[in-house]
This record gives sequence, C-alpha cells and structure tokens, in this order.
Amino acid sequence: MEEAFMQRTATCGSLRASDEGKTVILNGWVHRDRNHGALHFINLRDRYGLTQVVVDDDASEDLQKKASELKLEYCIAVKGTVRRRPQDMINADMLTGEIEVKAEKIEILSKCDVLPFMIDEENNAREDLRLKYRFLDLRCFGMQERIAMRHRIVKAIREFFYKTDFLEIETPTLIRSTPEGARDFLVPSRIYPGKFFALPQSPQLYKQLLMVSGFDKYFQIARCYRDEDPRGDRQLEFTQLDIEMSYVRRDDVLALIEDLFGYVFKSVLSVDLPAHFRRITFHDAMNTYGSDKPDLRFGIEIHDASSFASKSTFNAFTETLSEGGYVKYIVAPQKEGHDYTRKYLAELESAAKIYGAHGLAWMKAGNGTLTGGVSKFFQGMENEVLETTGAKDGDVILLVAHKDWKKCCTSMGAVRSRLGADLGLIREGFEFCWIIDFPLFEFNEDEGHWEAAHHMFSMPQAEYLDTLESDPGAVKGDLYDLVLNGYELASGSIRIHDVELQKRIFRICNIPDEVSKERFGFLLDAFRFSPPPHGGIAPGIDRLCMIIANEASIKEVIAFPKNTAALSPMDDCPSYVDDKQLEELHLAVVKPEE
Ligand code: ASP
Repeated sequence: MEEAFMQRTATCGSLRASDEGKTVILNGWVHRDRNHGALHFINLRDRYGLTQVVVDDDASEDLQKKASELKLEYCIAVKGTVRRRPQDMINADMLTGEIEVKAEKIEILSKCDVLPFMIDEENNAREDLRLKYRFLDLRCFGMQERIAMRHRIVKAIREFFYKTDFLEIETPTLIRSTPEGARDFLVPSRIYPGKFFALPQSPQLYKQLLMVSGFDKYFQIARCYRDEDPRGDRQLEFTQLDIEMSYVRRDDVLALIEDLFGYVFKSVLSVDLPAHFRRITFHDAMNTYGSDKPDLRFGIEIHDASSFASKSTFNAFTETLSEGGYVKYIVAPQKEGHDYTRKYLAELESAAKIYGAHGLAWMKAGNGTLTGGVSKFFQGMENEVLETTGAKDGDVILLVAHKDWKKCCTSMGAVRSRLGADLGLIREGFEFCWIIDFPLFEFNEDEGHWEAAHHMFSMPQAEYLDTLESDPGAVKGDLYDLVLNGYELASGSIRIHDVELQKRIFRICNIPDEVSKERFGFLLDAFRFSPPPHGGIAPGIDRLCMIIANEASIKEVIAFPKNTAALSPMDDCPSYVDDKQLEELHLAVVKPEE
C-alpha cells in the first residue's frame, strides 16, 4: 500500500477571506521561501495560483525545523488554518492576497534537484534548455496559462460543433502515401516487408471519402505530419481543425467559419468579432499589401507608380515600364522620433531584396517639394508626384521597379511589414480577412511543370474549365484562405467531384494517368459512385492559439514541441534504434558519410 500523505482539501488559488478560520491542507510546490527572523513565509504554488503559508515565530521546534529544510520547488503538503492578512499586508495582485495559511504541519512529498532555471512568470532560458526540461518549463505561469488557454479554445471549438449537425469522425494516421505537396513521413510495415504506411499530411482524402459516404458535415481535431526541412516556426507535426461539408458553395464554408470564430473569440476572450470578415481577392491583396496574408492592423498601402514613374528620367523605371514591368510605391509616413536615415533606408532595401527587388528607390517630401534619392529624376514634376502620392512634408516615397509582378508586390510588401512594425503602427486586436480567387496552379521552376497552388483536389472556377490545359497560369480556383493579423490561419477549397476533371488536373500537374491510378486510385474509384459536391477548410489550431496568446512562436502553445532543428532535446529524438528492431522491419540503414 502507498503511504498516506496529507491530501489537499483546497488548491493554492482557491482560498479567500470568507474561508477565515478553516483548517485546510494544501499540496503544491515551494515557489518562494523567505525568512524574517523566526517568521517563515512560503509561497506555495499549484496550477490554480499561489498561497502564502506562514510558519509563525511561536511554531513548534519540529515545524520550524521542517520549514528550514524546504528548498525551491520541493513538493510539499501543508496543513494549517486560514487567517486574514493584516491590512497592510493585503496583496491585491494575488487571488489569495487577502489571506494566508498559518502552518501547523508540513510534509515534504518530494525533493527537488538543483533547478536548471527559475520557475517564474516566463522562462528566459535559451530554447534548448527550456525544451530539455520542458516538464519544468511548463511549470512557469506563462506556459501554464497558454496550455490552459489552448484547452479553452479547443473546448469552445467542440462546443460550437456539438450544437450543430456536424459529426466528429476520426480518420487513420497510418495511411497510404499520397503526397499532398510536402514530403510524407513513412512507417515501415513489419508484416509486409518493403511496404510502408505514411503519416497523413492532413485527412484530406479521407474527409472527401466521408462525403462520398454521406457524412455531409464532418469535423475533426486532427494531427498532421509533414516531413519538411526545419525552417522558421514550422513543426513536423501540427494540429488542424479539419472540416468538410457536402452540398455547399464557397460562401457556406466562409459563413460557417465566421460563426465558429465568432463563437470561439466570444467565449474564450469575450471579444466580439464582426459577423463577416472582409474579402479580398488574391490579386488585390498582392497589389495593395504585397502579400496574400496581409496584416490589416495597420494601413500603409502599396500603389501603382507608373503614371508618374513613366515620365521620370530614371532609366530603371522607364525601361521596366516599357518592357511591361511594374513600378510600385509606398508613402512611408513621418513619425515623431523616427528618422528615415540612410542606414534605415538601407535596412528597408535589404528587406525588399529578399523578395527579389533589385533596389529600393526613395525620395523625401519636404517644404512642398522632393529631395534626396531619386528626386533628381523627377525635376519639374514634383507637384504631380506629391499630388498623386499624397505625400506630406516629412514623408518618404519608397519605390520598387520589377518586370515580375509578384516580385514587385512582395518586395513592397516586405517594406510595408517593416514599416508597420518599426513605426509602431500595428493596432492591438484581431483583423480577419478572407483571401479569395487564388490561382489554381503555380509553375515549379525547379521541376519545370505546373503544380497545384493549394492541393490537387481543388475545383477550378467554372469559367476556366475550357482553358485549363491551354493557359494553366490564368486559372483561378475556388480557393479561400482565412488570414488573421498577417498569418494564414486556414486554407480550403471547393473540391473536384468528377473523375475526368480530377484526371485533367493530375495531368496538368505532371501526373500521368498510370501514376494517378496507382496513387489515387481509391479516390478516383470513389468518384465513380455518385460523390456529392463538397468543400472544406482546415484552420491551424497551433497558430490560432499562438495569435490569441499574442506569441510569436507556435512552440509557446504546444506542450512538447520540437526545437528549431526538428529535434526533441528532452527525450532526444529522433534516435537510433536497436538492430533487432531494424531486422524485424526488414530495414538496413545506409548512414550518410560523415
Ligand atoms: N487539407 C488542406 C490542408 O491541410 C486544407 C483543406 O483544403 O481543407 O491545407
């Protein structure tokens, strides 16, 4: 039998002045521990809060001794009486700040080794140390709060769906390898030597098959796996709210998501979202914000400069325009305490160059005219430029010229983002928008063929059905992305439900019929049996939690993430396995040369 320990009768966040006089037992960790002469103050912590425990100076010798043995993070039980704190000791910042517990008995439940870092509000240790001791890092208040918030978000999502006709259906995680864009994680089959399962990149095909089966409204909180190189804030596995519906058009899916997010933000944050989110076409988003995931919390917009740039004497502009290229501009506003120094302009230029800009031209507005940078090429037309751009004294006009529309837009978009952040223009709050009318295909320069911009199961817009093959680049898809504060939060589409159309898309994406039959035969088979029209979407849960928690990394809202090198320092994985395990799987490892 386990030895009995003093089991809690209250949590460290629960006691109030109204509990005065009660005898309670608290269990928790020693958060802070201070001695004032013979008086001993212990802040006891659990996930609900902190309670001040006091060992009075008249306490028994035993109790005094026990108290002096305590160290940070010892796990202890305290029995004592709740008493009000003296008026001048009340701590309004603490839920339990009106009371303290006068200790009568202390039991050490377990001791704590030397800590790798302090358990605090937030942990400022380096990432690998945090992840190596993630179980401790998770004790910090910030992580505790974020993990609890994630729970509340997922709970609200489920609550929303449980009030509707949607069914929550699980789909397998050992599936056929059907690459969806990224590389599959493979799982060797022991029973069938040489054969492999894959981990799903998303439940995409299964949810479409569920539509064929008649489950017309499906959702699932699904783990997805993509074997991609470590880059930025990506994780190898992530969680999506996967949704699919039959007999819907685009606007039905958008309306569902607006309702869902309205519900989630109201219940988790008491924030009222607008009933409908702004819709911006891909083309307009790129032209105006230089991004297909624009941050609408600030207003700087990109404009076409051709009307005045074409009349300048600056060759880079006039030549680009005469060759059918683009010149775009942003008016960078004057801001108190912010100087557009040459150094800063050079930083903006570097940001633009990452996206392909050859350079970033500039000129300053001041005393009703233009100075510096490329202004000398606009002599005599200063008024026209000032009028067209609306630039006021102190503003700076920033320009990019490029023959490639996308590069011109995205380079300006990078400058816009920097300005928004550097000038402190980004408002607090949540700015959602829909990006619609995406191109269906993208040209893969490396492989020399077209591929699906989203995935191959998305429906082209009806007007392009006759020109899919002849002009793939012009085809718009029935695609939509949900964007929040500059992040892509969800992607979705109306799907193809016709075998022949699906095969045409495969062919355009360089997948001949034999290959598509072999890889996607089951889907094509299913489409022979009266599939309903259907569509769906999949919001990313990690990202949603990250934005709501106002964090810059999804690792802050995942209990056990991998590090930036796609490793887990805590359990040291991936790891080598025993030869016996490999043998059973009929695998031999060819190690890369050192
Ligand atoms: N399965 C898609 C994805 O993971 C989302 C969708 O189209 O529903 O991006």
